[in-house]
Amino acid sequence: MDEREELEALRRELEQANYEYYVLDNPTMTDYDFDHKLRRLEELEAKHPDLASPDSPTQRVGGKVAEGFAEVVHRVPLESLQDVFSLKELTEFDQRVREALGEEIEYDVEPKVDGLSVALEYENGLFVRGATRGDGQVGEDVTENLRTIRSIPLRLSEALPSLIVRGEVYMPKKVFEDLNAQLELQGKSLFANPRNAAAGSLRQHDSKVAAARKLDIQVFNIQWAEGRTFRTHTETLDYLASQRFKVIPHKTCTTIAQAGEAIARMGDGREEYPFDIDGAVVKLNDLAGRERLGSTAKFPRWAAAYKYPPERKPSKVLDIVVQVGRTGVLTPKAVVEPVRLAGTTVTSATLHNQDFITEKDIRIGDTVLVQKAGEIIPEIVAVERDKRPEGTVPYHLPDRCPVCGAPVARDEDGAHIRCTGAECPAQRLRHLVHFASRDAMDIEGLGPAVVENLLEAGLVQSPGDLYALKAEDVAELERMGKKSAENLIAALEKSKGNDLSRLLFAFGIRQVGQKAGKILAAHFGDLDSLMAASEEALTAIPDIGAITAHSIAAWFQSPQSRHLIESLRAAGVNFKSLEAPAGEALAGKTFVLTGTLEHLGRKEAAALIEAQGGKVSGSVSKKTSYVVAGEAAGSKLQKARELGIPVLTEGELLSMLER
Ligand code: AMP
Repeated sequence: MDEREELEALRRELEQANYEYYVLDNPTMTDYDFDHKLRRLEELEAKHPDLASPDSPTQRVGGKVAEGFAEVVHRVPLESLQDVFSLKELTEFDQRVREALGEEIEYDVEPKVDGLSVALEYENGLFVRGATRGDGQVGEDVTENLRTIRSIPLRLSEALPSLIVRGEVYMPKKVFEDLNAQLELQGKSLFANPRNAAAGSLRQHDSKVAAARKLDIQVFNIQWAEGRTFRTHTETLDYLASQRFKVIPHKTCTTIAQAGEAIARMGDGREEYPFDIDGAVVKLNDLAGRERLGSTAKFPRWAAAYKYPPERKPSKVLDIVVQVGRTGVLTPKAVVEPVRLAGTTVTSATLHNQDFITEKDIRIGDTVLVQKAGEIIPEIVAVERDKRPEGTVPYHLPDRCPVCGAPVARDEDGAHIRCTGAECPAQRLRHLVHFASRDAMDIEGLGPAVVENLLEAGLVQSPGDLYALKAEDVAELERMGKKSAENLIAALEKSKGNDLSRLLFAFGIRQVGQKAGKILAAHFGDLDSLMAASEEALTAIPDIGAITAHSIAAWFQSPQSRHLIESLRAAGVNFKSLEAPAGEALAGKTFVLTGTLEHLGRKEAAALIEAQGGKVSGSVSKKTSYVVAGEAAGSKLQKARELGIPVLTEGELLSMLER
């Protein structure tokens, strides 16, 4: 066999293996053999560039990087479906169909895959283009990413001049769980559900990343076919299967009652599918009948989507554990007997706070109904009281912090219970992570994983210790190296020059977010003046309420805080506001605010202006320096125009404040 023949043979063999593995779910080749042969094929293709072909299995591994996604106008729109929520509504749908078409009706019932709709286009049997649904009329060209989906045939055995197939791309539940587990390990944010994960993956600019996400597809419709006619929907599905597509499971029914049963069975068996489903679709089987019924502006009259209620399952509360957050809030979580729910294995459910537990009277040992409504954190809907074993007791959060043993206290104004220990190790990790985070001190390379390593190695306890770190010590840490250690030290060094507002936010003082940090920094100009301010003085600042003022004063009084501040001072961290000092930048200027500001509330805008020495007045006069006009500004804006007073947008005000 010469190399050209070998190349062709390998392509056929590998595509066959793909089909058996990904469509038939019946692997015939080991992964090892597959990879080995794929590598050989790559070699041969490199040697014979004239034999390159877009349908080669080597084209599935990704590697092409897209700048953006081109628009694709769908030849046939990708329509939505009308929803029905009960058997009654389903029967009404059936009646409408019968009234229009007569008595003999056949339906096809399919699971409604909770993924993303795509259109796959074939020309003369070759996969040439694939697009997302977009708004149904215009989607995005994601051909390269779709090519990486192994169950999408790249070449069909029958070369129709043109064929467009519709299907639903999804991330298999197992893949989703693995992906999230991996993201969690890396300290990255998780995907809320498989659909979001699939959407994010399909819109990757780098098709290698998309390939690694192991997406799959179920096809369920022929949108367009030239050179073939079909009589029924089931015929089209059979044809698609003959062309080696992965075709949606389906059941043909001759009465709506039968369809109802099929829907119920699919609902009961939803766990068995490798994909999430959020309903079942009932479709008229006869294609001529579909033509006659047509579509409304939004959806076809010949199909309906039966939506299942969110999945709920009983489980047992094995334990209640309490986590302590960065701000010391104790959050109870129920550890439940593992249960498969909406595509994932659920082992815990949030209990929010003591009030939630008390209201539902949730106890360890209880059988409870757990629900997952699309999002990642499951919740307890109800306790099954009749299944409560003897000897259970009402649950109360502990009165000491489970991590450091310090007493806990309930917020005066809310449902939260907090640890009062300023040195609580549970808060230490989160405190450090917060300190380093982007909106705080912005220390690049100091994410949760590195902080955890630093804590474990005993190199840091509090943010003050960060600045004493040495590159040699950091380089010793797991998954660190000389280069990343040096980068981290450089990032720390750079952060010393940050504006005071960042430092104030980084302290993690309760009630002091980014905005309050800015207001305080602008008002006091330096940390020592702020430290010296009394609670009353703080309360007097516009936009700093009594609770915030109290929290700030209390924080600065604590010995631990003082200790932290002194170690930061010794390290040379900047304590000054780098913005124009208070009272100067806008001194002598009078502002009038009108309309709705998009980002700043009016009160907040006024506080920021005043913090820089400006005045805010309620009415426009000749003395007004600027009018800031938001959405739906009215008579004040008109007056400003009449008097020739400069009008600022919110954006312009913000950049003036920044200067
Ligand atoms: P909706 O957008 O909620 O009205 O539902 C319509 C969506 O369901 C379409 O975008 C389809 O992609 C999707 N879908 C999932 N499975 C099927 C199926 N078996 N038949 C038709 N549509 C389906």
